[in-house]
Amino acid sequence: MKSTPVPLLDLAAQNHPLAAELRAAFDRVLEHGIFILGGEVTDLESAAAETLGAKHAIGVSSGTDALLLALMALDIGPGDEVICPSFSFFATAGAIARLGATPVFADVCPLCFNLDPESVAQLITPKTKALIPVHLFGQSAPMDPLIAIARDHGLKVIEDAAQAFGAAYHGKALGTIGDFGCFSFFPSKNLGGFGDGGLLTTNDDALADKARILRVHGSKPKYYHSLIGGNFRLDALQAALIGVKLPHHAQYSYARAENAAYYREALAPLAQAAASQCAHCGPAEKPAANARLILPQTLPQNTHIWNQFTLRLPAPKDAAELPRDQLKKHLNARDIGAEIYYPVPFHLQKCFDYLPPAECPVSEMLAREVLSIPIYPELTPDQRDAVVTAVTEFFA
Ligand SMILES: *Cc1c(COP(=O)(O)O)cnc(C)c1O
Repeated sequence: MKSTPVPLLDLAAQNHPLAAELRAAFDRVLEHGIFILGGEVTDLESAAAETLGAKHAIGVSSGTDALLLALMALDIGPGDEVICPSFSFFATAGAIARLGATPVFADVCPLCFNLDPESVAQLITPKTKALIPVHLFGQSAPMDPLIAIARDHGLKVIEDAAQAFGAAYHGKALGTIGDFGCFSFFPSKNLGGFGDGGLLTTNDDALADKARILRVHGSKPKYYHSLIGGNFRLDALQAALIGVKLPHHAQYSYARAENAAYYREALAPLAQAAASQCAHCGPAEKPAANARLILPQTLPQNTHIWNQFTLRLPAPKDAAELPRDQLKKHLNARDIGAEIYYPVPFHLQKCFDYLPPAECPVSEMLAREVLSIPIYPELTPDQRDAVVTAVTEFFA
């Protein structure tokens, strides 16, 4: 029997049903000819601000630039330290280093994959200016303890919510809890655009003003520069197209959560877990000591939007071959997409050789154990079953 192919992501399946509306948006922009900022961008900004419950939403050129702009608006630069998790997408750390500030890598929680407040607390020095919690794979970092640390030490908080548009912590939208929230419209994100794009959110009027000025080379009025900014603008065409998808984002997240629930139930027999209490994350499932497969879980305070469904296949430090590499091969051979997010933590990246060594054993463990499988909203029941069958076969 030939198995059903399952790509890691199927953008056409998501965009095709909206083709007529997307073409109409394109035609509208072609007609009015305002290609930079303008009404298309302000319309998307208002809609996104309302959706998230943020006072200000600022359309920017990418999620990476949202991070850069947030750090610039907070005057972070040489001599400053910014703490971020070692386990994330590169942009989180790259933005800090590009401004001449020092990224300081904290370890993460093995249950929710996010910044561990205990690790953060140990890394604070008089030079620490900000924290960047990342809401990795669509689930919130433990914000209450992180905000408490930030308050105690006078630190700014920039949420990297690139993978978490529409996700929430105790019912509050991610990206609206810290000083800034940074989102990405990269096509593979939950609210994916048609090229690069991003969004910066804040509830602070002065910070919003400053970020808007920095977005256009620091000029206000035009050609008068009190600040050195850059070109961080979102294209009008991109805004118009993303505006078509925005009203559907909750439906996409709902479908992803359905897929996650299906996987969790179907794969549960392969992954024995015991109830546990994470010091910061609260009630969780602790993997059995001899577990060969650990399933991702939603912590009770979180609304998870499942940007990724990430398995863990435990492996000792000195493993000759990593079980997750074997599973990846097994799935790929059956035409099933699977990807490693992320294989190398920041503190072991060559470009950060110049920094003092960091202690991040959980990040190192995750880097050798994780494998993400297809979770996109348009997966068909046959495709989900094909994934479950192939994973089950691997562990048989
Ligand atoms: C995608 C991503 C970014 C960067 O977003 P781009 O729009 O690709 O620049 C930043 N942080 C995280 C965690 C991401 O997943």
